[in-house]
Amino acid sequence: MASSSSSSTARWRRRVVLLRQPSREDDYEPPRRYCYHRMVASRWTSWTDGNPGRRFYGCPYYYQDGGCGFFAWHDNEFGERANTVIKELLDDIDKLYDENSILRRAEHGQIVSEELDAIQRDLRKLKRTHELYDVELRKWEKKFKVAICLLFVTCVWLYLLYRKM
Ligand SMILES: [Zn+2]
Repeated sequence: MASSSSSSTARWRRRVVLLRQPSREDDYEPPRRYCYHRMVASRWTSWTDGNPGRRFYGCPYYYQDGGCGFFAWHDNEFGERANTVIKELLDDIDKLYDENSILRRAEHGQIVSEELDAIQRDLRKLKRTHELYDVELRKWEKKFKVAICLLFVTCVWLYLLYRKM
């Protein structure tokens, strides 16, 4: 129970972050309302369980510290059925948000695995090149050994020839 209520609080906060910012209106149609500071009252949208989506006038500092405490509803009460539908729609937004973040992670995983495949292909190419160089090196080693042997034989032959003279 405690964990489900804390997770619903977290979801609630995220929803408020998503929806509260664009819900503030300062240049709404007249008549303007003024708070006790004599400032133009902002028109906010409530996202409480009891009044989801219902607009009200409040001090511009309403969400900082309550401001001067000015409060007046703009919309009439929506009624129980409308509130239920709005809450269901908000839950759908949350579900879509979760699904979207899962899809984004999966897409990221797909990109990483494609990059890994490319690296493995490059490695296989490098290995083949390395094998070719290895074969070439062994050929040259054989040639070098033959050349050393020929040189040695020539030296011995020249030495024997020199001694006979
Ligand atoms: Zn105020």
